[in-house]
Amino acid sequence: MKTVQDSLGEDAPLILIVEDEKDVVTPMEIKLAMEGYQTRSALTGKSALTEAFREPTPDLILLDIMLPDISGLDVCMRIREAPQTSQIPIIMLTAKGEEIDRVVGFEVGADDYLVKPFSIRELILRIQVALRRTMGSSDSPPRKSSFGSLNVNYDTHRVHVEGEEVLLTATEFKLLSTFIERAGRVQTRDILLDVVWGVQSYVQTRTVDSHIKQLRKKLGPAGDYFETVRGVGYLFNTQAGNKTA
Ligand code: CA
Repeated sequence: MKTVQDSLGEDAPLILIVEDEKDVVTPMEIKLAMEGYQTRSALTGKSALTEAFREPTPDLILLDIMLPDISGLDVCMRIREAPQTSQIPIIMLTAKGEEIDRVVGFEVGADDYLVKPFSIRELILRIQVALRRTMGSSDSPPRKSSFGSLNVNYDTHRVHVEGEEVLLTATEFKLLSTFIERAGRVQTRDILLDVVWGVQSYVQTRTVDSHIKQLRKKLGPAGDYFETVRGVGYLFNTQAGNKTA
């Protein structure tokens, strides 16, 4: 399986543009090519899935929510469910003021969100942030960590709980590795927003809560390592999981 890291090392990142309006797709393709990205596009939800799973798999997906056949939200969910695409950063594109789409978008595993109309400058910026996040930060955490039944591999971005692989989104993985790096120290929502989502973040603190809730759920018994510190934030307690492990 080709990983994001591999393809970034070899050649220009490949971006899949999913958008049914051809007059929106074409200028995006041109501008992204000028910035040194490779692109692939899909005009329907069905073809988006085909293009997302086709090798080499894209390094990032720009996903419009309003598509003629399958909703972008469903497309996002299916991309997240498949092991070969679960780690690909997804930036949702949607119409102005669709707050509900934004919240649901994060719930189905989108990593970022852009409201139309957006500038190409803004788009490029978000792409750079998302790709950087998948590649990991420059400060090097240990390559592997184990806590009771939880095993985290930072090279492959794979997480196992009780020997079973748990599929995490790029953001969830970043969140988990941040907590492990800072084990035993309380992390406020603002700190997490800054570290995981980045300083230019537009996401709200409740997004942190919904991501942690989802991460805990996915980790099953190992989710107990996360402790809520009421009114402050969260803590990764390496002792806590032992109770259930
Ligand atoms: Ca559309």
